Amino acid sequence: MSREVDEQHVCVLCGISGDGEGEGEDEEMSRFKPSDNFTSWNLLGAGDSLCASCERIFTNQNYRRKSWVRSNGLAEFHKPKEMLPLLINPPEPPFYLYITASGQKQTYLQLFRKGANMNQNAFWIADEDAGLLHVLPPRISELEAFAREAYEKLGQKKWKLIHGAPAHDWKQREICERIAQLRGDPLWQLVVRLV
Ligand SMILES: [Zn+2]
Repeated sequence: MSREVDEQHVCVLCGISGDGEGEGEDEEMSRFKPSDNFTSWNLLGAGDSLCASCERIFTNQNYRRKSWVRSNGLAEFHKPKEMLPLLINPPEPPFYLYITASGQKQTYLQLFRKGANMNQNAFWIADEDAGLLHVLPPRISELEAFAREAYEKLGQKKWKLIHGAPAHDWKQREICERIAQLRGDPLWQLVVRLV
């Protein structure tokens, strides 16, 4: 006997669709009704529902407040600085990585629209302020090594790594020139924040 499906619901986060009456708990869809102060409509896909998995994420404030890694459906929450090693050695696919700044925005919602990463050698993360960033682990290692070197040689002042060094530092000419080239790169800005 077949049941007629009269209504299809689409998850605004991950985009899966269902009739809202699945057999298992994980197939259930619920109506998407965010609180009045929800402002991240631009980060959502089309739809009117949340699947069970996305609803558990959406209603858990830790996904907004903290940095996290989610691998095989299990999440671990971290301080931002603890995320740097994970960018170099990401977890088992499928995985997601999110790095928070102030913990105010819900930039992580973009990760679920993008879909889980299946490749540890090239993947997408979301940074609260910069949004989606494409990551190659060797590039992160290289930026980390240079950030640590520049930090020491420029008198342990992070702002010089972020905004560029003033003229009197130009005795460290090579370092300053490289910072000038990297300054506009959101991955560089992120690595400097995390070292
Ligand atoms: Zn979903």
